[in-house]
Amino acid sequence: MKTIGLLGGMSWESTVSYYQEVNRGVKRQLGGLHSAKVVMVSVDFAEIERMQHAGDWQATALILAKAAKNIELAGADFLLICTNTMHKVAEQIQANISIPIHHIADATAQVLQADKITKVGLLGTKFTMQQDFYRSRLEDKFAIQVVVPLEDQQQRVHEIIYTELVLGEIKETSRAEYLAVIDSLFARGAEAVILGCTEIALLVEQQHTDVPLYDTTAIHAQSAVVIALAN
Ligand code: GLU
Repeated sequence: MKTIGLLGGMSWESTVSYYQEVNRGVKRQLGGLHSAKVVMVSVDFAEIERMQHAGDWQATALILAKAAKNIELAGADFLLICTNTMHKVAEQIQANISIPIHHIADATAQVLQADKITKVGLLGTKFTMQQDFYRSRLEDKFAIQVVVPLEDQQQRVHEIIYTELVLGEIKETSRAEYLAVIDSLFARGAEAVILGCTEIALLVEQQHTDVPLYDTTAIHAQSAVVIALAN
């Protein structure tokens, strides 16, 4: 079994989901007392969040590249960056390590392609919904068309992530807001919706809507288990 590297803490609320998911996945596959081999480094999200909103991505890259190097030195065979947003600096992180990064958008796009989804809604932080690093990867590398929420909807989706979900606060009212945004993405032609922020599945699950949801946390972690157990 390969050792999975988890670069976590962004936020720790969703890193918990990753840790559970990789262990459950290995247990499902191998049974008995088996569990995942994991090296995790978890950063202080307050520092990262401050730099994100100040636009100082270079500083976040330095912190994450150092953390990734420590994960490599501790014996991980490959790395998961446990957040969609921070894949913005995935290339800088990769330049600092020799183990491969298993990209969250690639893992998600592969599942979408297998399900023949060609037009998808994307929920996440404003950085993920607006900037190129994530959307163009889906569009250019996988030919999946991406629809994002309207400006005011994006604002609420982003606010709820940073003022509630990363703090572990789950509110019915926010779930209703998210479900309304999901419905409007569907009405605009999205065949499915990517939960493109690793905390969203703490709020919205498939049982809450008929629109097919693709939870990036579960997909990323489950695909890591496949890699870890491959010969
Ligand atoms: N976990 C979130 C994501 O997947 C947001 C927190 C962050 O900015 O890293 O994008």
